[in-house]
Amino acid sequence: MKQERWLQFLKSAGAIALAALVSVAAAGTGAAADAGPKAWWQVTGPSLQPAAAIGAPAKGCLAGGQALPLSGAGYEVMRPSRRRTFGHPQLIAFITALAAAAPAEGWPGLLVGDLAQARGGPTPSGHRSHQSGLDVDIWLQPVPEAGITADERETLAAASVVTADGARVDARRWTVAHQRLIRTAAGFAEVDRIFVNPAIKRALCDDSDDANEGSQRTWLRKVRPWWGHDAHMHIRLACPDDADACEAQAPIPPGDGCGADLAWWFSAEAAEEATKKAKAPPARALTLDDLPPACRTVLLNK
Ligand SMILES: [Zn+2]
Repeated sequence: MKQERWLQFLKSAGAIALAALVSVAAAGTGAAADAGPKAWWQVTGPSLQPAAAIGAPAKGCLAGGQALPLSGAGYEVMRPSRRRTFGHPQLIAFITALAAAAPAEGWPGLLVGDLAQARGGPTPSGHRSHQSGLDVDIWLQPVPEAGITADERETLAAASVVTADGARVDARRWTVAHQRLIRTAAGFAEVDRIFVNPAIKRALCDDSDDANEGSQRTWLRKVRPWWGHDAHMHIRLACPDDADACEAQAPIPPGDGCGADLAWWFSAEAAEEATKKAKAPPARALTLDDLPPACRTVLLNK
């Protein structure tokens, strides 16, 4: 953290231009290599650079991020104290468009969870991904009819739509509007994939199992089962066009993912895997050295 003290000193002396030069020089020598998640959390504004999603969702950063206003037409942002309200401009545009499309699907308003930090990067708690500004969590419950207060933004609980045994969706909470919201999100061309709890994927597969759906079932392919994700869906956009620094994800396997792949999630092997994951020590925090070199410039940009 020696570098940070230097920066503070230089800035207080009003020598901001000089500080920028020192930052770049220090970045070149790797002086800030130990900058971990806290350094990313502490920077509260985006870098003054053209927008770019850099690296991968679990190992990357965001240049020229855009803030999603806390309240907008058809949505409310939750937990602003986490400072994860920034995204690539394409992500902000997508959220705005999904919020506009949701009411027609019976979903009165989106509760928006984490996007990325102001410059993306690793976070001090929670997610491993959401680092490159292309991921957003959307809660699986709509904005309450009465709207939300500033307090509720921080305290309103996200309720699981999955039964305690993880086998199926909870009929008391799961509605056709849930299915329609997820289908609508998956229908956006820029959406690469959506992570939901395996029980949710199962419900979507079953609900869409009638002849009327026909080829419409292709949207299901983008919906991927993953642990957790029982109170929100995690939407990931594909790398924007012409985004050289953005590392694309491995393509999704063909098919709707409703067969053997999905069955695995309810197997003894999957349960074992879950236990192993729960017992594993927390992963080592990422430092600047772990991230693409361009992330240095993003973090140290004034
Ligand atoms: Zn997420």
